[in-house]
Formats: sequence, structure tokens, C-alpha cells
Amino acid sequence: MEEIYLDANATTPVLPQARQAALAAMGEAFGNPSSIHGSGLKARALMEQVRDRARRLLGAAGGQLCFTSGATEGIQTAVLSALTELRRRRDAGETQPLLLLYGATEHKAVPEALRHWNELLGLHWPVRAIPVDHQGRHDLAWLRQQAPQAGLVCTMAANNETGVVSDLDGIRAALADSSALWLVDSVQALGKLPLHLAERRIDYAPFSGHKLYAPKGIGMLYVREGAPFTPLMTGGGQEGALRAGTENIAGIAALGEVLRALEAGDTVANQETLLAHRERLALALTEAFPGLVFNAPPSLCLPTTLNFAVPGLASRLLLDLFDAAGLRVSGGSACSAAKAQPSYVLEAMGLPAWQSSAAVRLSFGAADSSELIERACARIRACGASLRAHGLTTAQAPAGTTTPAGLVTRFVVDGACCYLVADASRRHCVLIDALPAHTEQITQWQRRHHHTLVAVLATTRRTEHAAAVAALSAAFPESMQALGSVDPLGWPQGAQQIELGQHRITRLAPPEGSADASAYVLHTPDQGQLAFVGTSAMADSGSLHWLTQALAPHALLLPGHDDAQHFAWTLGQPLRPKARHAEPEALALSRERWHLQFPTSPAPLLVDVREPYEHALGGRPDLGPGIHPNNVQSVPLGSLLNALPAWLQLEADTPVLFYCRSGNRSAQAARALRRLGHANAWSLEGGLALWTAQAAPPALSR
Ligand code: PLP
Repeated sequence: MEEIYLDANATTPVLPQARQAALAAMGEAFGNPSSIHGSGLKARALMEQVRDRARRLLGAAGGQLCFTSGATEGIQTAVLSALTELRRRRDAGETQPLLLLYGATEHKAVPEALRHWNELLGLHWPVRAIPVDHQGRHDLAWLRQQAPQAGLVCTMAANNETGVVSDLDGIRAALADSSALWLVDSVQALGKLPLHLAERRIDYAPFSGHKLYAPKGIGMLYVREGAPFTPLMTGGGQEGALRAGTENIAGIAALGEVLRALEAGDTVANQETLLAHRERLALALTEAFPGLVFNAPPSLCLPTTLNFAVPGLASRLLLDLFDAAGLRVSGGSACSAAKAQPSYVLEAMGLPAWQSSAAVRLSFGAADSSELIERACARIRACGASLRAHGLTTAQAPAGTTTPAGLVTRFVVDGACCYLVADASRRHCVLIDALPAHTEQITQWQRRHHHTLVAVLATTRRTEHAAAVAALSAAFPESMQALGSVDPLGWPQGAQQIELGQHRITRLAPPEGSADASAYVLHTPDQGQLAFVGTSAMADSGSLHWLTQALAPHALLLPGHDDAQHFAWTLGQPLRPKARHAEPEALALSRERWHLQFPTSPAPLLVDVREPYEHALGGRPDLGPGIHPNNVQSVPLGSLLNALPAWLQLEADTPVLFYCRSGNRSAQAARALRRLGHANAWSLEGGLALWTAQAAPPALSR
């Protein structure tokens, strides 16, 4: 499947002609620009040509323009320069302690540099975030008020997450009566917005090559004529002693080729075309995902960026879905497997929590062709269709289209586990340890399966239980059978068991007979017993001895909290708090080891742990001719518990290979199966992303 890269705000491929220029520089203009012989002069001439071109493009005829390794270095240099001068003025009694201001949505490189140098230079001055409004624009009234006390003001030209373009002229006006130095992080603006650096009296402007088709490791820093400067690195006096170290001529040559293309207008599309591309993508998104909202008004954003959220669909889900369709986008938030961090940029804009934690950023390249954008739109529509086909849209699926439910589904939010036990025959279900935070996932499940909720049980008494019941009642009142009279843990008064078709749930009170805690046992005819033991029992497996009286030795024990993704354990193999660190790590299997290590007998079992809507879009790894379709299963991670008992019955020498998109979910599954006793469990190294990856770099489409 063709990879369509829509994450240009993170980085870009290197333009073919820029690659050529870098190669030529390495082969021909390879001299040291400080050497005075012919080779050195050639390299120097190339470098100065690129500098001149950059000055023209940036509107920076005067001042200094030096080459750096990238924007982070440029930011450090600018902050160090400004704060060193401010410290000198303070020491000379010319100024009092000053405020150091930065935009609340700034790239982390800026506030981190401010804090770092503020401490290191012994200033310890207040570092404050300039608030932004709902649209991500700086609060200029606030800035105007603070400006007289400010020593340094840092504002970005355009935001990397949302694409929101700052009102640089408004900021300049707000700083009119201030002597503050002004840093403008111009990384995302290069090639997309005119900057007029000198005209705007910007003191420092860092740039990064890899955001616009040059390689990583090359950047520029503009310093206004007369603005204070302190080198970050000293040594051989290169770059007019602004930045020591032999210059990266190959990177400079590549950057020069990109700047040439910008000047010539022959490679990068004009604003009008970029806006048309974005409009087509926005239309495809809104058609594919009804209810989608844009997190910043597109009219205020870079023409290449869309940041959006879809109610009811987590950012992680959308990223996996897009990735399965070969579309490379990124979360507006930094996600880890167990915990999704909401975007600080969207939080600063005051967007609702669901929007800042469900954000997705799509950013295409200024050199992308109309054909590529058209193909991207078709894939986006296919993503929407796949979600609808699997009943996963914000709308309620019509009755006939529901998909069969597995017996136990696990929902996890920040490590807290909630279990849903479903009887597919009567369409009844029971929830165990639901918290209000699980409501969204449960509601999504309900949209697909339409079950009647017959009990909401808790393993410990806590206030969130009542809140969860209330949230569920509000979310789908029609599916909540009258829960009747229940005890504080949700157990139906007087009941011995809860029947769920051929399954039943009983309760196990701890030995002290406390009314504040309980375990629940699901008895199944074919999967044995599953015991929901809650959180307190996790702390020390020794406290579980009382369970041995009541449970079969192979019963799976399911925790109420599972940060480490253990999924389950048995009384025979108790969970030790540090067990995770003692585990063998070599469970990731490369393509080579797969072919060498696993003959076709006994037949290996392949398990796709992606969600059904993902594998409907993406392929299967080609693992060779010996794989029979009967030996390929699809078991999403949330349903793993249903399959574990059968896998534990497999012969010890039967390899089980889990795979997913990136190797993260499959590693969790393989680890869980190993821990429960089947040592021959593996995870496909790097997931489908690496298995199907081409050796060649993605071709540029235009
Ligand atoms: N500033 C902004 C707005 C960025 O988007 C980035 C890159 O992510 C940086 C600074 C850091 O740039 P570099 O990777 O060149 O250090």
C-alpha cells in the first residue's frame, strides 16, 4: 500500500533536487569553507550564495544570518544572547528584574530554554506564559499591559500543532513602548508565510530545514542588526564567530536548493493551491466523520494544517485507523500506550477536555501534488466507511448492523480496568468496576452491540461507583434495565448469582466478611473461571490465599488496575510486583528470525490484535506459504481475555505470533500469554509498519 505522508509539521522528506545538491556538495564542494585554497573557496561561495538567497526570502537584508543545526539550537542561542545582555544591564544597575514571556502554545523548546538559561545565568526571574484566546491567538491586551516589565518576549509565527498563525503586527504594536527583545520562532512559517523580519523589527528568528524539504541537522538563526549576541559555541571562529564548528555544507547546499525552489515557485504550490488542497481534505474529513470539529478556525491557520477531533473517537483510535489505511498523521496529543496526555496547546486555548485529548493533526507538504491529495481524500473516506461498517460511528448503528459481542471486554483508562461481561444470546450485559471515565468506551461498545445492562458491580466501595451508574444512565437510558434494589457494591439484593445465558456470575466475599469489598467469579462452560478481583488484591498476591478455597487453580484473575498491562494471572503463577522487570524481553521477532526459527510444523498460530476496523483497511504480513487461514485469528486487545484460556491449552511447541500496527499492542499480548505459561509467544518486531516497509524512501509526489 502506498504510504501517504500527512505529517509535514513534524518533518518532511528531502526534496529530490535537495538530495542531489547535498550529494554534489559532498562530492565536489566538500572543502572546508575556512580553508583559503580552491576547495575551501568553492564551499564558501556555495554557502554565501545560500545565505544571500535566505536573506532575500526572509526580508532580512541587514543583521546576521548564521547556519545552525536546527531550530532548537537557534532558540537556545537567541535566549542565551538576550538573557546575557539583560543580566549585564541588571548588574550595571540599568534595569530591575524583568519578566520573561512566551506564548502559551509555544513549542516546548522555547519555555524550556527560557527556564534553563534563566536558572543557569542566575537570574531567577519570573517566566510567564502569554495567554491565548479560544482561537489560539495571543491575548494582546495582556501582552500590552505586561510589556513594560518584560525583558524578552517569545512568540511563534505559526503553531506546529494547530497551524494557527500569530498576529505578528499586533504583537509588534503591543511591544511598541517596551524595550523587550523579541524572539519569533519561525519554524512553521518558512515557505508558507511572508515574514518581513527586518521590517517587523524582530530581534531573533530561528528556522529549521527539515520542516521544509531539507535534511535534519541544518537550520538558520536570524539576529537583527544591533540585537545582543552571545555565541552558544565557541571555537574556530566560523560563521563570523557567531557559531563555531565546521559548517554542514551538504545540509546548507540542500537547504539552498529548497530556498531556490521557493524563490522560483516551481516546486512548492502557491497559497491558492494549498488552500484548495486543504479544503478538499477538510471536506473528506467532515464527510467521513460526521460531527467532526476543527480545533482551530482553518481561516486563521497555515494553509497546510488541519487539527480536528471527532466526538466519541479517541485520538489513538483515529491514529491507528489512519495508519492502517497508509495515512501518516499524528496526534495533537502525545500518546503513550497506557496514558493519553491531552495537548497543552489545545488546553491553553481553553478547548473542552475531550477535544484536547482526542485531537488529530493532519499537515500536508507544500510540494504535495493534487493527485496525492485526491488519493488521501479517498483513503480518508475509506476510513470513515470502515468505522461505519463496524458500527463505530458517533451515530447509533441501526439494529441489524450490530456485530457479535465477545464474552468479556476490557476497557482501560489510565490503568483503571472495567470489564463488561456479555451474554450474546439474550443481549444482556454486566459491568464490573466501571468509573465515569469509562463511559465513553462503554457507550461506543453499546452503539455496536445494543445490550441491556442488568448489573453494575464494584469490587470496592467508592463514590465513583454511583457517579458511573449515573453517567451510564444518562448515556443510554434505554439500555439500563431497572437495576432494582442493590447493595452498595451493586449486587442485586438477595441474589445468589447473576445468570447470563449459559454463564453465571457469583460473588466472593473476602474472609473478613467486609461489606466494602468483593470479588466476582464468572463461571463459563468452555473457558473455565474468570475472577474479577479488583484493586486491593493487586497490591499483594499473598492476600489472595483466601481465593484458593473458592477457585480452580487455572482460574484467570483479572485486576482492577493494570498499569503494566499484565491482563491476567493465575493463583498457580502469582503476580509479583516487580515481575515485569524480570521478564525475558526477547519476544519481538524479526522477519529473519521468523523464517529461520519457525518451520511450518507444528503450525504456528497468527493473531492480529488490531481492531476490526483497522484490518479491514490494512493487510496481513506475508509470512510465507505455510500459513493456513484457519491459523490466523483476529482478537483485538480488549477481547484478549476470551482467547487466553484456549491459547493456554495449545501444545508447548506451538508458536503464537501476535501482530499489530507498530508492535506495541502485540508485545502486550505476547507478554501476557508468556506470563501465564505459554513461553512460545512472540510479537512481530516493528509491527506491520516495518514488515511491509519499503527500503526506498517515500518518493516525493511532485
Ligand atoms: N519550533 C517549532 C514551532 C517546531 O515545530 C519545532 C520542531 O518540532 C522546533 C521549534 C524545533 O525544531 P528542530 O527540530 O529543528 O530543533
